[in-house]
Amino acid sequence: MIFFGVVKELFDLPIPLRSYACIHPTNALRLMTHAEFRARAHQLADWMADYFEQVAQYPVKPAVKPGEIKARLPDAAPAQGEPFEALMADFERIILPGMTHWQHPQFFAYFPASRSAPSVLAEMLTAALGAQCMIWQTSPAAEELEERVMEWLRQMLGLPEHWTGVIQDTASTATLAALLTAREKATDWQVLRQGFYQTPRLRVYASNQAHSSILKDVRLAGFGEDNLVHIPVDNNYAMIPQALEQAIQQDLAKGYKPTCAVACLGTTSSTAIDPLQPIGEICRRYNVFLHVDAAYAGTALLLPEMRWMSQGIELADSFVCNPHKWMFTNFDCTAYYVRDKQALLRTFSILPEYLKTPEDHLVNNYRDWGIPLGRRFRALKLWFVIRTYGIEGLQQKIRNHIAWGQRMARIIDEDPDFERMAPTPLNLVCFRYHPTDVHDEPTLDRLNEDLLLRLNASGRILLTQTRLNGRYVIRMVAGQTETTWENWVQGWGELKRAAGSRR
Ligand SMILES: *Cc1c(COP(=O)(O)O)cnc(C)c1O
Repeated sequence: MIFFGVVKELFDLPIPLRSYACIHPTNALRLMTHAEFRARAHQLADWMADYFEQVAQYPVKPAVKPGEIKARLPDAAPAQGEPFEALMADFERIILPGMTHWQHPQFFAYFPASRSAPSVLAEMLTAALGAQCMIWQTSPAAEELEERVMEWLRQMLGLPEHWTGVIQDTASTATLAALLTAREKATDWQVLRQGFYQTPRLRVYASNQAHSSILKDVRLAGFGEDNLVHIPVDNNYAMIPQALEQAIQQDLAKGYKPTCAVACLGTTSSTAIDPLQPIGEICRRYNVFLHVDAAYAGTALLLPEMRWMSQGIELADSFVCNPHKWMFTNFDCTAYYVRDKQALLRTFSILPEYLKTPEDHLVNNYRDWGIPLGRRFRALKLWFVIRTYGIEGLQQKIRNHIAWGQRMARIIDEDPDFERMAPTPLNLVCFRYHPTDVHDEPTLDRLNEDLLLRLNASGRILLTQTRLNGRYVIRMVAGQTETTWENWVQGWGELKRAAGSRR
């Protein structure tokens, strides 16, 4: 895409600025006046729409080596301002060729980070407003819209009515908030006051399939990673509740304090679903805080037919779901729900004189609902997305995505050269290439790793891997806003061709 021609906007500048421009012609260009902003924004709108239409033409992952992009950038900042054309030319020449295109129709890696047109438009407005929404007074509309949108989403996902929601930056941070709240509840808010002095060992439980953020958060919250107990899983990679109860009992016998359990709806490796009902009952019995990590799969709760996953959710203390993964809302937007809002506030609130306002007792000041003080206005994009698609529009997309994942699973099951490696409750398919003449595990691992590397190097498709039961497994997932069944078919074609060319 060629971007700019002559800077004719200079001549549209108001008279005083134009005369300034005559004296300092280059400087005037570089100041980015409102008039220039207007012109550039119009051009960028076209650029963005073109990108939406043409994203499939880029390599999914760029063929660049580590350090290559940085080497093309000057090693010091410019002393003098530069014209916007120079910035945009370098964006297209240096940056764009080094981007991985997450919205590419052949991006099947990780979990999607979906964006959508309404979400992008809202992000533009958010950026234009430039508001820092830490407390009610710093933008009443941002605070109250967040309250309202979190209520909508709570209803949409079928979460308990008395729960309260807040938008956080990421699931990692929300889970840290949950662990800190659990820690304080378990110690009657003593750790906040005096640190871990005289507290027993506080224990946290999660399945051995739990996301790495759980371990990170356990470390950061001061539990110590040795106090994260990995609970074994069943054949479906879901937590075994009896094993959780056993672990709790063993810890009690040693004088430890069972503090928090993290159950996962949709593990990152294979979207396994931990059984909430029995886990929740155990947590209630032993007074253990239950946090539910539904970072990816939470979005599927939009569908009444998927609510089996959340059966027992009313026994949980907190819940996290990322609309920035599968609900067509730009990164970052994490929905964090808690049963006991007071416990969260008691863990996080601090009120210095310079943040006091007359309305404090009447409003939510979200700075007290998580770690950062400053907050972006994130509710706007979620509001735009929900209103643009409507509940039914969102449901239709998610329903399709899941149906296509299941269809792909059946195709793999019927292919003698491939083997499915985990159940497919949603739209992530875990499988490996397993030609009938190969039997030993190390060879299969090597074949699949080689297959994945060759596919990803092609630039035509991007997939990632995991290990299940020690075996190298290819993950394939699609949940972007505009993804289609044809994209799956095309991706499968790439896989079959690349696997066949081994011989
Ligand atoms: C993606 C993911 C996370 C981490 O999400 P962030 O918002 O990037 O912190 C946590 N848990 C699960 C199950 C995930 O899939």
